[in-house]
Amino acid sequence: MKVLDACFVTSAVDARGIPADGIPHVALVGRSNVGKSTVINALTRRPLARTSAAAGKTRLANLYRLTLEGGPGGIGRWSVYLADLPGYGYARGGDDSVAELAKVSESYFAGGTAYRVAGVLHLVDARHPGLASDAEAADWLDATGLMRRVVATKIDKLSRAERARNLGELERKLGMPALPISARGGEGLDDLWRLIANLSRQQ
Ligand code: GDP
Repeated sequence: MKVLDACFVTSAVDARGIPADGIPHVALVGRSNVGKSTVINALTRRPLARTSAAAGKTRLANLYRLTLEGGPGGIGRWSVYLADLPGYGYARGGDDSVAELAKVSESYFAGGTAYRVAGVLHLVDARHPGLASDAEAADWLDATGLMRRVVATKIDKLSRAERARNLGELERKLGMPALPISARGGEGLDDLWRLIANLSRQQ
């Protein structure tokens, strides 16, 4: 996958602030600190997203527009927005986390016909496969009816044995196999690009 262009477009505070230009969105959702900003920077090879940004932001979504070439099936030039939604999990306890996710993301997912959310990447920390907040977020995302895929971040931090055990547990808890990635070492990033390409071509 060749990244022809990648830029930060806007930090939308409500759904009206999101450009309605027909380019599909792939949303990134996950607990705060799961590594969303780092993944965006690793995918684009540009320092677009601020890592470890302050918690408790009021924004709805940070939007990054990518122009790409190639991908599965040899598609030519294509564009996608990565929509980085606020991380959940500041509050303790699963219910609070999901209420928080719902509150901050609802108006984005309910954006109507102005823009098309092609799918959601649910990022989870590979070191913590058993979190109730992630399982509840997965249920909440499924209720939106959108295509959800699970991405396990920071896989470089696990030993081989932990990796097998944690990926197994994630699959049981979240209902599908997780794609293991490391923004640091680069593992899985090509597969993640393919996933984004496939999601963005969903109708
Ligand atoms: P965000 O809150 O989801 O945007 O999380 P950040 O991207 O700011 O990452 C949180 C922390 O995890 C930072 O200290 C990153 O350096 C670290 N981190 C993110 N991705 C990886 C990874 O793939 N491997 C390792 N070892 N650390 C990572």
